[in-house]
Amino acid sequence: MRLIFIGPPGAGKGTQLVRVAEYFGVKKISTGDILREQIALKTPLGLSVEETMNRGAYVADDIVLQLVRDRITSEDFKEGFVFDGFPRTLEQADSLWAILDMAGVTIDKVVYINVDDAVIISRMAGRITCSSCGKPYNILSYPPKSEGVCDDCGAELSMREDDKPETVKRRLAIYRELTEPIIDYYEERGLLFEISGVGDADEITRLIIETLNAEE
Ligand code: AMP
Repeated sequence: MRLIFIGPPGAGKGTQLVRVAEYFGVKKISTGDILREQIALKTPLGLSVEETMNRGAYVADDIVLQLVRDRITSEDFKEGFVFDGFPRTLEQADSLWAILDMAGVTIDKVVYINVDDAVIISRMAGRITCSSCGKPYNILSYPPKSEGVCDDCGAELSMREDDKPETVKRRLAIYRELTEPIIDYYEERGLLFEISGVGDADEITRLIIETLNAEE
């Protein structure tokens, strides 16, 4: 399975794609995690993107594409993967198409999780993330088993700088302008599966997996 997940920030994309990746036994490739890793390591690249990310703006296409090229292996092409937060622009979608073409593989499906802005803004108010593995939680709808601590790795949970309310509004506007056009891009290629991100999270996972299995 080679999959892409698209959706506005707060659509539940992170939660769903981790479950789907686990189910199909494929690796998650998150450009946000790779960039945050660079910031934590204080590499020149990390230092150069930190301010852009904290503002909720997009990192330049050439930087993101280089990170993806460096990270993806021939094993991933063969075994499958789920992209998280990539591609985010038409330029990235086009370049990914070319990268996969060169490797002789294609995307199987693009899962588009759709949620209204009002729902997103109220959801993001409760979002906390693991500082180590990046797993997302929500104080209201998806709390950790023990307060402030990641269920999976035991690291501390905190609110990401770019999940603060004023930044969320900016991220949404950028998403609508730069990322929404790639929905049509994949629709035209017959790859899009759209699902509402509102409702029971387990039911949404079940529907996504059922649809992906039916496509195989
Ligand atoms: P995420 O963890 O996917 O929400 O990404 C967090 C931040 O990292 C975004 O707000 C951007 O600043 C940056 N970022 C992650 N992936 C990309 C991408 N594909 N293109 C541009 N910027 C990205």
